[in-house]
Amino acid sequence: MEKVSLKKTASSSLLEENVLNWNLVQKSFEKSFGSEIYSSWLKNISLIKEYNDHVILGVKTRFFRDWITSRYADKILGELKKHKISITRLEFRIEPEKTGNKSLFSNIQENKISEIKNSILNYNRLNPNLNFDNFVVGQSNNLCFLSAKKTCSQLSRYNPLFIYGGVGLGKTHLLNAIGLELSKNNTVMFISAERFMYQFIKSIKKNEMVNFKDFFRKANVFIIDDIQFIRGKEGLQEEFFHTFNTLFDQSSQIVISSDRAPNKLDRVQDRIKSRLSGGLVVDIGSPEYDLKLKILRKKISEYQNFFKESPDLQEEVLSYVAKNSNSNIRELIGIFNRVVAFGKMSKKPLNVNDCKIILRDVYNSNKVISIDKIQTVTSNFFSISLNDMLSPRRSRPLARPRQIAMYFAKKLTTRSLPEIGRKFANRDHTTVIHAVKTIEKLLQNNEEIKKNVEELKSLILSDTNAISN
Ligand code: ADP
Ligand code: MG
Repeated sequence: MEKVSLKKTASSSLLEENVLNWNLVQKSFEKSFGSEIYSSWLKNISLIKEYNDHVILGVKTRFFRDWITSRYADKILGELKKHKISITRLEFRIEPEKTGNKSLFSNIQENKISEIKNSILNYNRLNPNLNFDNFVVGQSNNLCFLSAKKTCSQLSRYNPLFIYGGVGLGKTHLLNAIGLELSKNNTVMFISAERFMYQFIKSIKKNEMVNFKDFFRKANVFIIDDIQFIRGKEGLQEEFFHTFNTLFDQSSQIVISSDRAPNKLDRVQDRIKSRLSGGLVVDIGSPEYDLKLKILRKKISEYQNFFKESPDLQEEVLSYVAKNSNSNIRELIGIFNRVVAFGKMSKKPLNVNDCKIILRDVYNSNKVISIDKIQTVTSNFFSISLNDMLSPRRSRPLARPRQIAMYFAKKLTTRSLPEIGRKFANRDHTTVIHAVKTIEKLLQNNEEIKKNVEELKSLILSDTNAISN
């Protein structure tokens, strides 16, 4: 035992001798890239992990990563080598901001709205980039937008204002905008229900419930995001109910968001549901085509203002993206960023076909693929029956597709080898290993197999109904 721990200390101190001083590295970035590039792109890079021959660096968004790797990677590596000669490789990892939403083009200033003595409770954050001015209005969100504006100009007229709708439709953006607007003349409390619970539990543990209650009572505007989080949490509901009543009785404005209507909040006490629906309830709809287009145009103009150059996007590309993205605005903006970044990297304006590929990537990255689907698509592709493909027969026209299907089962799903074996008419896991190896080898030197596998892969990843099971 003794020996092991000694060894550990020795090797870790050895490592330390070689550790990069990130502050110094940053300084040299600034010197060699110039302060403009440095502050726009490199300043926020963090050092996540360092090995002898390579480092893992953290960036906030995919867009930053793509941008930095396409333009500055070589030079960054060169700089790092000056500090540590053994480094030969860089890797970037995306480490998104943990709190709140973040607009792509600017840094969040943490905006403390109310003066709170107790530092534990000091978590009130509004994002200055999510305001009314950059909230694009269309048919589907007009009512919500107007209600939010009205709430700001006539406090307590609608109390509470309850906004509900699906993911990524702009609820948090609107709540934040209300908070920003009202914080000019009011004490605003803006918190997610999850955070509310966290503080609540912490206060109980530290015997600080009096502070907790006092703190919320001070607000004359109380904004709580994602209230659906309290479902099934009795203690939290109890506390929320009292907070709500206290605030309501002192005529504080209350604004709430939720992913569903008040009466659909199952496992929430009836008395709370009735409180929630006692003011104005509005739903934010899925964006229509025109709104999506308007949002894309807005993003282009934000981009132009920020980068002083125009992203080269043709009208047909915009309308393709608006038509083919689904109803989530967060995702729409993600696709926009991707299209712009790819356009930049390929140094030519993108056409609709390029966009198809980009969008397919976006949608496939979080799709769950089943072994059943792989088997059906593969057997269809090779024009053999599923039964034959799964049968014990070993002739090449059956065995090859079977192996390819096993290969995909391994590569595109998270199933274990024995599970895959069972799905292939109870074969042993060693058969699966053999299949995967065989295909991997063939992919290196057999053009026909390679072409088939690539085509097949895009079929499996696509949502074509003609081949669904
Ligand atoms: P939700 O809270 O409903 O899940 P968010 O408010 O977080 O959605 O919105 C997701 C992203 O889309 C945010 O970046 C937000 O700024 C943006 N967004 C949503 N609706 C609009 C809109 N109408 N105009 C501009 N940006 C929007
Ligand atoms: Mg939200």
